[in-house]
This record gives sequence, structure tokens and C-alpha cells, in this order.
Amino acid sequence: MAFKQFGLAPSLVAAITKLGYTEPTPIQAGAIPPAIDGRDVLATAQTGTGKTAAFLLPIIHRLLAEPRGTIRVVIASPTRELATQIDSACRNFMAGTPLRCTLIVGGAPMGPQERAVVSHPDVVIATPGRLLDHFGRAAQYFAKVTTFVLDEADTMLDMGFLTDVKRIVAKLPA
Ligand code: AMP
Repeated sequence: MAFKQFGLAPSLVAAITKLGYTEPTPIQAGAIPPAIDGRDVLATAQTGTGKTAAFLLPIIHRLLAEPRGTIRVVIASPTRELATQIDSACRNFMAGTPLRCTLIVGGAPMGPQERAVVSHPDVVIATPGRLLDHFGRAAQYFAKVTTFVLDEADTMLDMGFLTDVKRIVAKLPA
């Protein structure tokens, strides 16, 4: 199977070609088609098997087809390190597009993150506690979210984030 079979936007194809991706990994082959169709996807794979691109590529593809101007995607990650890796992958995939992602994690000052949230990024990548802090202060900026990703959902539960995740889900549009 080749990436071109997914019908991804040309700017995305250019970005992944530049990164040296030629063939999708099994999780990408399984998850990208239903995610492009906007269906809910629950997927498991070992670390290092291309899981990040499996959710970011279809999400960015869909974002490119819609008008910009609001946060449309929230990606929750159990740790700052993982969130930072997702943010870096997201920036690589968004290169050559007008889209922007922003990182919202604990242990960093709130001010720059607040300014980033109100500057209309398309994607927010966050750890649960800090995301809830921002919901408390700038809930209206999250009112148009259409896609929610729980990365490493099992780790999130192991780390005791179930209550936070439920709070986040309750605050996001249905
Ligand atoms: P991940 O499992 O998402 O952490 O990805 C592990 C590594 O594999 C990252 O460096 C990705 O850039 C890389 N990668 C993801 N998908 C592919 C692919 N289809 N072909 C080559 N490398 C990939």
C-alpha cells in the first residue's frame, strides 16, 4: 500500500515525502481511512510504530478542507514529553499549510499559553490538568472543537487521569 491511496491533501503528501515516509505502517493503514471519513477510531499499537501520524495525518487532511479561525482539534496526552513529541510531529506535517498547532502543558507559564489559545490555533496539544485550567479561563475558544484525541489512553488511566478526562469531555461540544 502507498500513502497516495489515502487521497491525502497534496501539502501533506509533500510533508511526509520530505520526512522519508514511503509506505504507511499497519496502524496507519488501518486507522487513516476511517479517520479521514470522520469516524471514531480506537487503535492500539506498540510505541514507535507510527501511531502519531496515524491520527495527525487524517486530522490535518480534514482541517485543510474547512475554514480556519477556531480551535477544532484537541489532543490530550498523559505526559509533557509525549505532548511535545506530538507537537513537533504536528508542526512537521503542517509545514506548507496555513494551519497552526499549539502546546499547552503543565510546568510552563500560563501567560504565553493563554495568548496562544486566543490566537486561533487549529490544534491544541495538551496535558489534561493544564487543559482544564485553560477551559476555566477561556472556555469559549474551545466551543467549536470537532475532534478529540486521547493519546495513550491506557497510560492516561494508569496515571489517574480518568476524572480529568471526564471533565474535559463534559466541557467539549457533544
Ligand atoms: P511514533 O510511533 O508515532 O512515535 O513514530 C515513530 C517514528 O516513526 C517517528 O520518527 C515517525 O516520524 C516515524 N514514522 C511514522 N510513520 C512512518 C512511516 N510510514 N514511514 C517511515 N517512518 C515513519
